[in-house]
Amino acid sequence: MSVTTTTGGRHFLQIPGPTNVPDRVLRAMSAPTIDHRGPEFAALGLEVLEAVKPVFGTTQPVVIYPASGTGAWEAALTNTLSPGDKVLAFETGHFATLWQDMATRLGLQVEFVPGDWRHGADPAAAQERLAADTGHEIKAVMVVHNETSTGVTSRVPEVRKAIDAAEHPALLLVDTISSLGSIDYRHDEWGVDVTVAGSQKGLMLPPGLSFNAVSEKALQASKTAGLPRSFWDWQPILAANERGFFPYTPATNLLYALKVALEMLDDEGLANVYARHTRHAEATRAAVRGWGLEVLALDEREYSGSLTAIYLPDGGADAIREVILREYDMSLGAGLGKLADKVFRIGHLGHFNDLTLVGTLGGVQMGLVRAGVQIDPTGIQAALERLQQA
Ligand SMILES: *Cc1c(COP(=O)(O)O)cnc(C)c1O
Repeated sequence: MSVTTTTGGRHFLQIPGPTNVPDRVLRAMSAPTIDHRGPEFAALGLEVLEAVKPVFGTTQPVVIYPASGTGAWEAALTNTLSPGDKVLAFETGHFATLWQDMATRLGLQVEFVPGDWRHGADPAAAQERLAADTGHEIKAVMVVHNETSTGVTSRVPEVRKAIDAAEHPALLLVDTISSLGSIDYRHDEWGVDVTVAGSQKGLMLPPGLSFNAVSEKALQASKTAGLPRSFWDWQPILAANERGFFPYTPATNLLYALKVALEMLDDEGLANVYARHTRHAEATRAAVRGWGLEVLALDEREYSGSLTAIYLPDGGADAIREVILREYDMSLGAGLGKLADKVFRIGHLGHFNDLTLVGTLGGVQMGLVRAGVQIDPTGIQAALERLQQA
């Protein structure tokens, strides 16, 4: 049942995850579920566990969970840390706030560096805190690579440099749930210890899988880490993975989907995938500014390639989203946490091309006018011009 007045054509799912699932991926999922202890499954398991590595930029193990991204957050913490350990986190937005809150509830002591929800993690602040921690009580630094609530990325390589400059042994844990497969990311090269990811954003899959890419240092830490864990424990999973299996029932049909989605990313080429997202983000910002509206992200080094948050300081964002859903059958992301009603978010990630962007921006522009927001209705032209450049 639809609440919209528009019944023809496809729904535009332009929230920053879950994203649109390609037909090829949907078809792959409709194959019969097989015996997850049988030889056919082992071949699939071995194949996807290897094929998933390049998208993380790693040659090290990637653990796959039948869970949403939140589960992989918990796995990253419980496998590497012990009760009472100190961790350093940055208030970049709603997701960073939720992750550090989870850390607190798991019995960790969180030092949460305050932020304005318009910037990424500050590498200088990281260096300062770590340099001051001469007793090396901080065991991990937690960074959200792409803050989905704000459309702001954190400069992970610079955070890595800050840790090194302070000569601090803390682990680096990074959430890439809304950046993996859409924004350039390099687990090995950037010296990340645990990379957390999810299936339903840049990877173009339905919700239900999540990931931990694990460094050798993180694996060593897991041998002495004292937080209780069972379902999330890397060791039995990695042991079973050696033969392509999992210790408990995997999400078999989502693994069929993962195999195809990884083939699609590989066919396009990861560098081209990242460039496509950057270009669509640039065109989106051009439209927002053309309309005379404000992009929430303030630092151009931190613009997100996967989504754009539009800031309406006086509120009214929810009413705009309601009009756009009702009139044009398009879902946009709501403002989360303290940005409720002050932000709406356009997801331009995953299975997405120039004309999906033009349709999306056309719907936003018509919705803004319909909702009575004072805008320059030629704003979309700036996006079209950006798309027409080579
Ligand atoms: C979506 C998201 C999450 C939460 O993932 P779930 O799959 O909803 O559990 C966490 N962090 C970021 C950055 C996200 O975008």
